[in-house]
Amino acid sequence: MTDENPTAGPSLDTLASLCKRRGFVFQSSEIYGGFESTWDYGPLGVELKRNVKQAWWQAMVRERDDIVGIDASILMSPKVWEASGHTANFNDPLVECKGCRRRFREDELEAGAACPECGGELSDARQFNTMFKTFVGPIEEEAATAYLRPETAQGIFVNFENVLTSTRKKLPFGIAQQGKSFRNEITTGNFIFRLREFEQMEMEFFVKPGEDEEWYQYWRQERLDWFVRLGARRERLRFREHEAEELSHYSTGTTDIEYYFPMGWSELEGIAKRGNYDLTQHAAASGKRLDYFDEPSGEHIVPYVVEPALGVDRAILVFLLDAYEEEEVRDEKRTVLKFHPALAPVKVAVLPLSRKETLAPTAQKVADLLRPHYMLQYDDAQSIGRRYRRQDEIGTPLCVTVDFDTLEDDAVTIRERDTMEQVRVPVAGLLDAVGERLPEIG
Ligand code: ATP
Repeated sequence: MTDENPTAGPSLDTLASLCKRRGFVFQSSEIYGGFESTWDYGPLGVELKRNVKQAWWQAMVRERDDIVGIDASILMSPKVWEASGHTANFNDPLVECKGCRRRFREDELEAGAACPECGGELSDARQFNTMFKTFVGPIEEEAATAYLRPETAQGIFVNFENVLTSTRKKLPFGIAQQGKSFRNEITTGNFIFRLREFEQMEMEFFVKPGEDEEWYQYWRQERLDWFVRLGARRERLRFREHEAEELSHYSTGTTDIEYYFPMGWSELEGIAKRGNYDLTQHAAASGKRLDYFDEPSGEHIVPYVVEPALGVDRAILVFLLDAYEEEEVRDEKRTVLKFHPALAPVKVAVLPLSRKETLAPTAQKVADLLRPHYMLQYDDAQSIGRRYRRQDEIGTPLCVTVDFDTLEDDAVTIRERDTMEQVRVPVAGLLDAVGERLPEIG
């Protein structure tokens, strides 16, 4: 298997340094030395993140008739986590080195391994619940203990009845959600791969019992295709089916879409068959009826669920790694992020050839023409070659150059990021010309 591995993207250090330099991702609380496994998105990162979330929402909700969205609270009744099994089962096996005292997840080490840091002996594993606990209200008493949600899915299950009655959806149908989740992870690191505070995009697809296998196959393929459509490299993606003993407490079958990260194959997205576990648990614990009235048969049924669950930050990492390329152009190194245009944080840059006063008003007018339609940067500092490189490095698909001829012929030059080809177009036709080159934005 190993010799069939694809080539990996750039190292995480290379990527993290570009991300910091250009304002994609910063270490959280950096001026205080950082805070482990939390990261902040900068001016370009926030655009990229919004674009990734929007592309998911578009594919999962807006372009479909059978999925609706919700936005539930992060803080929920603690009874939710009792019923879902998280209070009892959302554990990782923690081992500690008897020498250096570092902690690891036992299931990430080889059986019988010594401490990966110092070679010391490891303790027996103990179960560590990774939910963050907090107190709601001014008195720290048991009744007021709450958790920061470790997944967004439960907000969907507890709203099943509300969504069903307000939308009158018929099976099969799905409920989608995006939002923050929190896990007190034991092992962290690898840049934004594993975080303690992260964002998820999850969708619970409710189907008739017996139809879940078919939908499970459908969603596996659909989710893989989504990555490829948005520019992920197919050869760095693969399916990995979980072994029976790996399955989560709720799952009857799980596939990971794995990606070949610089540290090796790891989970990008999970697609799970959850049976009717969650609805049954919440119905029993709340005493409320959580089922579906099937008119044709006159029966109440508890739907089965298929869930694709993806981390936004992990998707961002993949799109960054797959976009990254270093090329030789006329004996110079060009670093370019070849983002799909829908994901690129900046769509168009407007660059006056020189800073001379004579060009500025025209260049500003060109920028004003495009700005309502496209995320845009206006850059007049340093040589034009340098400015192209800067835009390449943040993945801007198009640069529009305003030069001295523009004052005469009312035309500008469009330069494409990937081919570096340049074409001259009249300003009057610029909006259309840009639209043709960025067909999937708007
Ligand atoms: P692992 O076994 O790696 O801890 P998991 O199987 O528990 O992860 P899921 O519960 O299936 O993960 O979560 C669904 C998705 O959410 C994952 O595929 C991943 O993209 C994302 N995710 C989960 N935990 C984290 C985290 N700590 N940081 C960033 N993303 C995460």
